[in-house]
Amino acid sequence: MTAKLFIGTVVNSRALGEIEILENVAVAVNESGNITSITALDSPDYERTVTCFTPESIVRLPKYAFIIPGFIDCHIHSPQYRYAGTGTDVPLMNWLNKYAFPTERRFLDDADFATKTYSRLIKRCLSNGTTTACFFATIHLYPTLNFVSLIREAGMRAFVGKVSMDQNSPKYYVEDTNEAISAADEFVKAVLETSGDARAALVTPVITPRFLPTCSPQLLKSLAAIAKKYDVPIQSHMSEALDEIEYVHQLYGKADPEIFAENGLLTCKTIMAHSIHLSDGDIKILRDHGTGIAHCPLSNYFFADGILRTRHLLRSGIKVGLGSDIAGGYSVSILENMRHAVISSKILVSQRKRTIGTANKESDETDEISYKDAFYLATMGGAQVLNIDHVVGAIEVGKAFDAIVVHCADDNGNGIGGMEVWSDDTAESLFEKFINLGGVENMKSVYVAGNKVV
Ligand SMILES: [Zn+2]
Repeated sequence: MTAKLFIGTVVNSRALGEIEILENVAVAVNESGNITSITALDSPDYERTVTCFTPESIVRLPKYAFIIPGFIDCHIHSPQYRYAGTGTDVPLMNWLNKYAFPTERRFLDDADFATKTYSRLIKRCLSNGTTTACFFATIHLYPTLNFVSLIREAGMRAFVGKVSMDQNSPKYYVEDTNEAISAADEFVKAVLETSGDARAALVTPVITPRFLPTCSPQLLKSLAAIAKKYDVPIQSHMSEALDEIEYVHQLYGKADPEIFAENGLLTCKTIMAHSIHLSDGDIKILRDHGTGIAHCPLSNYFFADGILRTRHLLRSGIKVGLGSDIAGGYSVSILENMRHAVISSKILVSQRKRTIGTANKESDETDEISYKDAFYLATMGGAQVLNIDHVVGAIEVGKAFDAIVVHCADDNGNGIGGMEVWSDDTAESLFEKFINLGGVENMKSVYVAGNKVV
C-alpha cells in the first residue's frame, strides 16, 4: 500500500453530543494505513508535508465533501442476511424457529449458498460505510472459518463468532456439549494462528454463546474459560424480549445479567446485544464488569417489547455502540440505525412524559439522543464497546485510517441522492443533512486501514 494524503474537511465525534469539524486540513496516511499527521493548509508544516507525496497519492476532496470515521456495527448475524428485509411477523422465540434456525442450518452443507450470502453481505456492509462489524455466524466450524477468509480477502475489520448452542434448539441445529466446547476452542485457535499478516489481523475471533436458553451451564462455563485462555472477546444477547426473559426465568429462575456474570461471561471485552429490560441492579452488574451494549434500534421495534434507555445507560457508565442486528433489523445501514436511535429516543421521552406526568417540565435527565449523539454511537461508541477505540472511531493521529469519503453534491453543485445542497450550506449543515438524508450514493469511497475497499 502506498502512503496517501487526503485534503479537505474532517468530521469526528470524540465525545457524546459533540462534533469536531476540521476544515482545510491534510490527513497523512502512511504505508501501514495509520494516520501520521493532520495539518492545517495554512500552517507552515503543510508545504513540508505535501512534498512527501506524489501527485497520484493525493486525494483532494471537492467542495461539499468531507471525511468521517467508518461506521461500526456492533451486532450483526451474517447468515441471516439471506432473508434480510423479510420475516418480521412473529415474536422473537417463534422467529428463531420459523426463520433464523432453518436458514442458519443451510450454511453447513451448501458451500455455494454460504459463500454467495457472505460475500454479498461483506460487500453490502462496506458500501454502506461499515468498516468494522461484529458478526454472529452459525454453529458450524468450517463454514465460519470460510467466512473469516472472505472477510480477510475483502480487507474488512471484523469480529467473528462461531455460534455455540447445545440445548433447547431444533434437532437439526444444535451441538453436543463436548463438541460445542472443542469447536469453539478450535475456531478461536485457527483464527489466531492465521492472523500473521496485517490484513488477516483485522479479524478477531469472538466466543459466542447464542443466548441463555440455548446454552447449558456447562457450556457457558467452558466458553468463559476459552475466552480467558485466549484473551478474546465474548458476545451474546441479553434481556432482549419479554418472551425470552420469561423463558430464561423458567429455566434458571434469574435474570440474564446475573446468569452471565455467575458463569464468568461478563468481562470488559464482552458485547451484549439489546439489553433492553435491565433493573438498576443489572446495570450495576454490567458497569462493574465493564461490559458494553450493542444497541439495535431498528430490530428492537420488532422484537424487543421496549426501547433502550441509551442515555441513561451512558450516564451510568456503560459503553454503548450501534448494531444492525440483521435480520431482526432489516437494514445493514448503520446510518439508518442512527436515525432510529434518534427517533426511538424521542418516542421514549414522550412515553415517559405520559407515564410520569412531566409533560410540561424540562427533565434534566432526558433520554433524548441527538444526531450528534447517534454519530458518536456509530463511531467512537462502537469502538469503545469493541475495545478498539485506541485503533479506530475517529480520524486522528495514531489511529488507523478507517474512513468514509462523503460527497454531498456532484460536479455541478447539485445534491446527490436524498440531499439538497444550497450555496449557504456550512460544513456542519451538510454533515447534519448527510446523517438525516444521506445514503450509499453519498459514500464516494470507503477505506479500512488505509486500503480503499469501496
Ligand atoms: Zn442478534
